[in-house]
Amino acid sequence: MPRPIHATVHTDALHHNLNRARAAAPDARVWAVVKADAYGHGIARAFEGLRGADGFALLDLAEAQVLRDLGWRGPILLLEGVFEQRDLELCSRLDLWHAVHCEQQIDMLSQHKTNVPQRVFLKMNSGMNRLGFAPHSYRSAWTRLNALPQVDEISHMAHFSDADGPKGIAQQMAVFQQHTQDLPGERSLSNSAAILRHAQGAEVRADWVRAGISLYGSAPDHPEHDAAHWGLLPAMTLASRLIATQTLAAGDSVGYGSSFVAPGPMRVGVVACGYADGYPRLCPTGTPILVDGVRTRTLGRVSMDMLCVDLTPLQQAGIPAGFGSEVTLWGRASKGAVLSIDEVAHAAGTLGYELMCALAARVTTRVG
Ligand SMILES: *Cc1c(COP(=O)(O)O)cnc(C)c1O
Repeated sequence: MPRPIHATVHTDALHHNLNRARAAAPDARVWAVVKADAYGHGIARAFEGLRGADGFALLDLAEAQVLRDLGWRGPILLLEGVFEQRDLELCSRLDLWHAVHCEQQIDMLSQHKTNVPQRVFLKMNSGMNRLGFAPHSYRSAWTRLNALPQVDEISHMAHFSDADGPKGIAQQMAVFQQHTQDLPGERSLSNSAAILRHAQGAEVRADWVRAGISLYGSAPDHPEHDAAHWGLLPAMTLASRLIATQTLAAGDSVGYGSSFVAPGPMRVGVVACGYADGYPRLCPTGTPILVDGVRTRTLGRVSMDMLCVDLTPLQQAGIPAGFGSEVTLWGRASKGAVLSIDEVAHAAGTLGYELMCALAARVTTRVG
């Protein structure tokens, strides 16, 4: 028998979460952002749940190929654009739209031999200072692109640095508006946080929104709001089983470094899941976890292949947890209980994004 750990990607949850993005931005078309192999869910596995999107946005040309192989004929956008000249040939072959964020990409386009002009998304650096043309050079980049026979329609895009926090989007919006308002073309600005928190603002006039993390059921602004607040469902469950139980006396410790010491007699379950499966080693004692659908906590350090849980709440609940009991590291338990990946991430001092992307290759993943 294989190790009992496995992940499940929930088609119904992806579908539901996509509809949440649509409801929040009813006038926009929705890019489903599926970079990083659909945030660790697997593009091929996530595709069924997300095929109602208007397009797919990603970074890697190989991932774009996967989508075409799956039969997707609609728009695909390369969010970082091309990396070298010959990528443009693949863009032509696979009919990919691509971001243009720097002069070098315009140079490459000007040398691309094609009879079919390409659709591009010109990117403005509106304050994030990662990719994009500075506001004062945006117009000249647009003019240069617009003169190229290789270029078809030019859309405008920018990316918010603070849509999830108190600083918000107003300043970046103003910069973007000021430098694009008299240019023709479609616009794309919002990530999940902007879609959910700022979509009602009339100033975010957007033809396309770019939903990523919310599609996967994680709140973009956790812990200010949780996934339930935004009506999102977890798209990934990581589940395993107890493979041993131990009975501790007062003073007994658990795991490497003896970091947890039992204050009194207690039962402990040993879970077949560790950091080599993608569960964060940084999760301290007290990280929430479900055993047989009952919420309890981890104990001691997470090791490579195992972690330990407190079975006390199960006894109180009258559930005789023992060998083989179902453990939900995050996602849905079979009895309907839910543990958000955001809570586990928070305990580890990180975000749901990082956990879902770090699911290890050794974890068998299915769709269900
Ligand atoms: C990843 C990404 C998104 C999606 O962001 P989320 O916070 O996951 O919604 C949107 N736009 C760009 C340019 C991105 O790189």
